[in-house]
Amino acid sequence: MKTETILPEESTLDPQDWNSIRALGHQMLNDMIDYIQSAAQRPAWKKPSSYAVASMQQPLPELPQEAADVYEDFFTQVLPFNTNNIHPRFWGWVQGGGTITGMLADMLASGMNANVSIGEHMPMYVERQVINWAKEMMGFPATASGILLSGGSLANITAMIVARNHFNNNIRQKGLQSMPSQLIVYGSAETHNCVSKGIEVIGIGSDNFRKVPVDENYCIDLKVLEQMIIADKASGYTPFCIIGNAGTVNTGAIDPLTELSAIAKAYNCWFHVDGAFGAIPKILPEFQQRLQGIELADSLAFDYHKWLYVNYEVACVLIKDAAAHREAFAIAVSYLANHERGLSSGPDPFSNYGMELSRGFKALKVWMVMKENGMQKYRQLVRQNIRQAQYLAGLIKQEPSLELLLEPSLNIVCFRYVGDTTDTEQLNLLNKEILMQLHEKGIAAPTYTFLNGKYVIRVAITNHRTRSSDLDQLVKAVIHIGGGFSL
Ligand SMILES: *Cc1c(COP(=O)(O)O)cnc(C)c1O
Repeated sequence: MKTETILPEESTLDPQDWNSIRALGHQMLNDMIDYIQSAAQRPAWKKPSSYAVASMQQPLPELPQEAADVYEDFFTQVLPFNTNNIHPRFWGWVQGGGTITGMLADMLASGMNANVSIGEHMPMYVERQVINWAKEMMGFPATASGILLSGGSLANITAMIVARNHFNNNIRQKGLQSMPSQLIVYGSAETHNCVSKGIEVIGIGSDNFRKVPVDENYCIDLKVLEQMIIADKASGYTPFCIIGNAGTVNTGAIDPLTELSAIAKAYNCWFHVDGAFGAIPKILPEFQQRLQGIELADSLAFDYHKWLYVNYEVACVLIKDAAAHREAFAIAVSYLANHERGLSSGPDPFSNYGMELSRGFKALKVWMVMKENGMQKYRQLVRQNIRQAQYLAGLIKQEPSLELLLEPSLNIVCFRYVGDTTDTEQLNLLNKEILMQLHEKGIAAPTYTFLNGKYVIRVAITNHRTRSSDLDQLVKAVIHIGGGFSL
């Protein structure tokens, strides 16, 4: 049979015209560098136009379009309406701002299109290098293991899966029904909700997550924790895991980690630390005391995309006991068996350490950005953000119309406009209105939380572009907007 009759027209996704795609690529690169360079000159936030939103309600495209035209759609309908966490006055939730080198590294990784799951190729070694650096930063032993994940949520959940499967080696095969009694997890009431999701995912159920009350600094109450554990044991339950927070999402509170580790040991519990952003100051000499205990954890989750400013998305989980980590996920199947030589040899597949098989090359941007900046630069920037939080707190305290809810323990500042009102309900509505106007006027993008029933404006500074003048501007604007309302 002739080839033409079976394959009349062979096609590819590679361009017909390499020169025009090259020109388009250069244009994109220039545009993005301009875009980031000029971030401060644009509003802190802009509501997506109705035209842009409508452009995302089109039917499935049947006919091809020129790449340049598709790029034009991106440029006009998507790019102008970013989350905008690249802006110097973005302080919402906890989001990092990324870097140019991180952006370029993502392009390189995507160009390689490496699948970092299995095989003998350099991306496997780059990720192992990054994990080894993570252990060094966090005081974990060289024998620990780890894996990169999409975010703190997945890092926390991965740690909880390891904790569960390590608790009893029947659980993987027989499930939790094989346990003689209900497993119980403990963590402060300020624990991030991704931990609750994790507890659901591992089949324990969020009703069996004991939310331990916090003290006036929003740290876990150790006495109550221990009472709860004793009561649970007396009722025939099985305490099995304690979560410590290194930096809660609401206020940046750091639980007493060394003490938590001792309690975990005493009651035979796994000790996990959620250090999504708050573990990062572990790199600062002046935080050794405050963050002591991270290195005692059985597992630790932290993000690169928040306070290490690496572009989305990338986080890390470290597990002290590498064998426990592997035993939680490894399944021997013939199509994934390692060979002695060739492409199918290489390091232990990452699929033995997590839920994912196919995985992108997130490690490259971490590796490049960390090499580019060095820990010296990182120490300077993390310290700068902590000092900026203290600076902002100082500005707020000087203003009689503003109230600082608590001294920042890390990089999060919670405050509200009070004017001369004391009515909580009125103040809650007013501060919500102030926040919405800060966004809609494009002035700044903090977010909010509730502390003891009070609606507060919450500024989380994981932003290497913020300058003290940006914080001056925020305070001025809040006073100006708040003052416009007569209560
Ligand atoms: C952000 C955050 C998480 C979740 O991390 P993602 O990277 O957003 O998935 C978990 N815990 C804390 C304390 C956080 O701040």
